Amino acid sequence: MMHLVHGAATDVGLTRTQNEDSYVAGGGLYAVCDGMGGARAGEVASDSACRHLLSLVDGSGRDEDLVDAVQAANRDVLNQSRRDPALKGMGSTLTAALWEGRDLLIGHVGDSRAYLFRDDRLEQLTEDHSVVGEMERDGRLTPAEAERHPYRSILTRAVGTEDRVEADIRRIAAQPGDRLLLCTDGLTGMLDDEDISRILEEGVSPAATAESLVAAALEGGGEDNITVVVLDVVEEEGGDRGGGDEAGVEVGPDERIAPSRALGGDPPGAERVLGPREGSDSGEALGTAGEKRVSRSGAADWIRGRVRLAIVSALLVLLLALGVFAVINSSVYFVGTSGGKVALYRGMPYAVVGVELYSVEEVGARRYEELDGETREEIDAHDLTTKEDGQRLIRDLSNGE
Ligand code: CA
Repeated sequence: MMHLVHGAATDVGLTRTQNEDSYVAGGGLYAVCDGMGGARAGEVASDSACRHLLSLVDGSGRDEDLVDAVQAANRDVLNQSRRDPALKGMGSTLTAALWEGRDLLIGHVGDSRAYLFRDDRLEQLTEDHSVVGEMERDGRLTPAEAERHPYRSILTRAVGTEDRVEADIRRIAAQPGDRLLLCTDGLTGMLDDEDISRILEEGVSPAATAESLVAAALEGGGEDNITVVVLDVVEEEGGDRGGGDEAGVEVGPDERIAPSRALGGDPPGAERVLGPREGSDSGEALGTAGEKRVSRSGAADWIRGRVRLAIVSALLVLLLALGVFAVINSSVYFVGTSGGKVALYRGMPYAVVGVELYSVEEVGARRYEELDGETREEIDAHDLTTKEDGQRLIRDLSNGE
């Protein structure tokens, strides 16, 4: 029988003042979430998203449960951002792994990543839901171009920005010796796959590996918050597995977690002793959601599928048009670039199914290339702002301040 041993680490990095990442690890549930939004909204978003997954700790471990938990997280983050003006427009990535004794169920929204390290080979299990990620997959950008692209932080999917969010779900049949890595883009922005592989193959404990990965990202510049969860699949060796996952659920970063805020009643503390679930009936026969969708065959099915797709697409376009209209007419703003110049945008820094949820409000005189690294970082973050603050920033930059 296999079980997991985990290690987790997070760091604010060297240029940010707040850590907007969150993670959970233990009890068969592992996740990293990377929040975005003005002021402290990013922290609230990622913390809420991660905490909603805690309901899965005692669950049946079915694909549907993970999908439901992501939807619940989505509704909660969205409701909070609608209720509280300070949290308006916040959102979070979410990359989770749920352990089922044999399988790892991966759920994913946004540009955090899951990697599998097996037989000394690193495989990225998730696709980045970002404008740049999509352009790279379409062959419109090379990986090198994508790395420095000014829109690299614009997500095409996030938890808490729309009424529903689609999570990518996939199931991995675990093997002893497998190493799984969940991480936010603060790691992958600083380290390439080779750097990551080199650290994963050192073979030290998951906790020491997590610390090494974070240390390497800091050495590489630490331009963003860095959060990693490392999981080792090991064969069981008798009863005592000290340091294993029965110790409870770890939720981080520690300093901002109040146990009373935990969802579902029980605080996720050491008193919550969790063992591997036995007799799970959701084995390999279920397959992944993705497999089910593509396994149909036959012309009739194909035509039915196309007609359904056309209807759904038409409805989506209509909904999107309404959504774009609503967002563009809202009072949310962010600063970005237009034609190489610093510009104020009305709307949210997301593009959904290729439709931009923002429009240019005002273009400043200052060119993006002339700015120092720190100011570029500030602009690339696309933090939400008020119209007045955004205009002030553009004016100050245009006046060379
Ligand atoms: Ca980040």
